Amino acid sequence: MSLDQLYREVILDHYRSPRHSGSLEHPDAHADGHNPLCGDEISLDLTFDGDRVSDIRISGRGCSISQASASMMANAVSGMTLDEVRDLERRFKEMMSIEEGGEEIDVKVMGDLAALQGVRRFPVRIKCADLPWTTLDEALSQRS
Ligand code: ZN
Repeated sequence: MSLDQLYREVILDHYRSPRHSGSLEHPDAHADGHNPLCGDEISLDLTFDGDRVSDIRISGRGCSISQASASMMANAVSGMTLDEVRDLERRFKEMMSIEEGGEEIDVKVMGDLAALQGVRRFPVRIKCADLPWTTLDEALSQRS
C-alpha cells in the first residue's frame, strides 16, 4: 500500500466514524464555522479544566476532507493545554503550506493529521482542511 493510499484510508476512516462527534449541553466555548467555497459546516463545543481542553464535541456536514480534519483535530486537542493547542495549530498550518519535496513532517507529533498533507496539492481543498482550526480559533477567542 502506498503512503497516499494509506493516508486516504485514514481520512475515510475519520469521515465515516468521526471522533468526538456531537455537542455539549453546557459548553464553555462554542463556535460555528462555514466554508462557502465547498459548503462545509462545523459546529464546535468545548469545555475547559483550567488551561486544558477537557472535552470537545463537533458536529457538521460537508466533504470528507473538512469532516475528517475536524475529527482528527478533536482527537488531537482533547486533553491538551491551550499552549499545546496553539503549537499544534501552528504546525498544522505549516504542514499545509510546505512546498512539495520541502521540509519533512514530524509524523509522531502530527499523528493522524499527517494524513491531510496530500491536500496541500489541491489549494481549493486547503480551506476545507483549515475550517475546523479556524472555528477552533473563534471558540478560543471567546475565552480570554
Ligand atoms: Zn470541503
